[in-house]
Amino acid sequence: MPAIPQTFLDEAYARALTGTEYELRATPQARNSVSGNGRPACCGNASCIPICPIGAKYDATVHLSLAERNGALVHPQTTAMRVEVGTEGRVTAIRFKRWDGSEGVASGKVFVHAAHAIETPRLLLHSRSEALPNGVANRSGQVGRNLMDHPTQLSWALSREPVWPYRGPLSTSSIETFRHGASRKDRPAMRIEIGNDGWSWPKGAPVSTAAELARQGLRGSELNAALRDQAARHARLASQVEQLPDPNNRVTLDSNERDMYGVPLPRLAYRPDDYVRAGLAAARAAHAEIFERLNGDRAPQRAGRRRPHHGHGAHGQRSQKLGGRPRPSQPRSRQPLHPRLGCVPHRRHGQSHADHRRAQPTFGRVGQSGIVAVIRTLFGARR
Ligand SMILES: Cc1cc2nc3c(=O)[nH]c(=O)nc-3n(C[C@H](O)[C@H](O)[C@H](O)COP(=O)(O)OP(=O)(O)OC[C@H]3O[C@@H](n4cnc5c(N)ncnc54)[C@H](O)[C@@H]3O)c2cc1C
Ligand code: SF4
Repeated sequence: MPAIPQTFLDEAYARALTGTEYELRATPQARNSVSGNGRPACCGNASCIPICPIGAKYDATVHLSLAERNGALVHPQTTAMRVEVGTEGRVTAIRFKRWDGSEGVASGKVFVHAAHAIETPRLLLHSRSEALPNGVANRSGQVGRNLMDHPTQLSWALSREPVWPYRGPLSTSSIETFRHGASRKDRPAMRIEIGNDGWSWPKGAPVSTAAELARQGLRGSELNAALRDQAARHARLASQVEQLPDPNNRVTLDSNERDMYGVPLPRLAYRPDDYVRAGLAAARAAHAEIFERLNGDRAPQRAGRRRPHHGHGAHGQRSQKLGGRPRPSQPRSRQPLHPRLGCVPHRRHGQSHADHRRAQPTFGRVGQSGIVAVIRTLFGARR
């Protein structure tokens, strides 16, 4: 499949950054550039989050539909509440509740827990019993710990010349020069994402820009011209930095609050350390320099920064210790990957598995959802 084309805006940055250490590259995309397998080609109007409305961008529904076509039964509006473990230490069933309040029990040979970085540990911790007082798969005390994301520094500026954002997928190019090198001993690896989405992430533009101009008294064609002028010059950069595991960044259970099914709500403790903060500071400095170059070495007319954004668990990962010995330890770089499912087995509960992404040793600069989907598909195909 041909690559998704880089945008006019990417080319403007590439010209401005030629000969510098900021080397612009096309970003690989899990979205169709041509129609195929019943999914259309991307039509490029930059509304890819939360999901692509026409299905050009990959999401889990692609494989969910395939699984259903091959006989999988999906139970919508059904919430797992408790993992049952038998006397031999093997998972025997999952207790669940439906939206209408009715209850049921799912039994099987293999159980995969893939409720993401917060809900999976919540379920395992809540499933404690007399035999397993710390919860399921938690003799190590590591379930819920080492919660990670890729902290993000967001910056935006008004460029001098039009760069014509709000066209194409949200991002088609990035600067990957800072992923490697000796500086990683002082600050994390990072990547700089070039945004095609103008100021929509930091400011809710272009709607918020139109509202602001209207507040200033502009109306009709005057408002239209001012909006066009500004929106054409909205530039946005976001740098995502690597985060290392910290056992104090963790998911626990709330001792008072429960959800509608009576399961304790999760409590989150999350604090980026000095290493991450050094990465965000380096990102701010890089953004300022890039914006200046985009404006011919003149400071951009208006620039903004937003306090670092931590993804709100959207990209969360690690939060479980799996596969290895039960004693407390840091996450290991070589967790055994289940050869068939692309999952990591809970050693003590043999046939019970956690989604592989939750067991990666550190968090890279970007989400790896597409890669995990590919791993699962490849291993699934070999069964
Ligand atoms: C705004 C945004 C942008 C993102 N951008 C990117 C990106 O560019 N690249 C990238 O790689 N990743 C990105 N991500 C992250 C990516 O979407 C997630 O990492 C990925 O979806 C995780 O997949 P998962 O299957 O582990 O968990 P999820 O997709 O969260 O699926 C977990 C499922 O479990 C269900 N569930 C939870 N608890 C229970 C329970 N008790 N019983 C039954 N079901 C339960 C949930 O309803 C959900 O359907 C982004 C996320 C967000 C929010
Ligand atoms: S730009 Fe995004 S939302 Fe629009 S078609 Fe392409 S992938 Fe889908």
